[in-house]
Amino acid sequence: MGAIIKISCGNCKKEWTTNWGAGYLYGSVDVAIEALGLKKEDLPTDKMKTMEEPWVFENKIGICDKCQSVQSFPYLKLINSGKEYYTKCEVCGNDLREIEIDDKIEEKCPVCGNFGLDVERTGYWD
Ligand SMILES: [Zn+2]
Ligand SMILES: [Zn+2]
Repeated sequence: MGAIIKISCGNCKKEWTTNWGAGYLYGSVDVAIEALGLKKEDLPTDKMKTMEEPWVFENKIGICDKCQSVQSFPYLKLINSGKEYYTKCEVCGNDLREIEIDDKIEEKCPVCGNFGLDVERTGYWD
């Protein structure tokens, strides 16, 4: 189950609502491939289904400095090969800067540059 997380800046009052973590549906290889915009042929899909190639899939949270936004993005890792797949900013295609979710985020607000963002869990998703 994933958490719905509200990230806000105490200075400029900007806030973002994001889906974080791993939802139940994300246990499916097909869902993961689709979320990443990949094709079945891009990945060892058959081996992933049998867990011969173990993998993890989750929603991480990233900052786009260009759009000044915080958003969740899909992230897939193949454990054996160490290969990682993830998407870029959904708006501008820029690289996202991954942030660690804790009680407080030790990052600059992408809008006003104030250090430290607040985190609040507002619900769950699956
Ligand atoms: Zn701010
Ligand atoms: Zn962007």
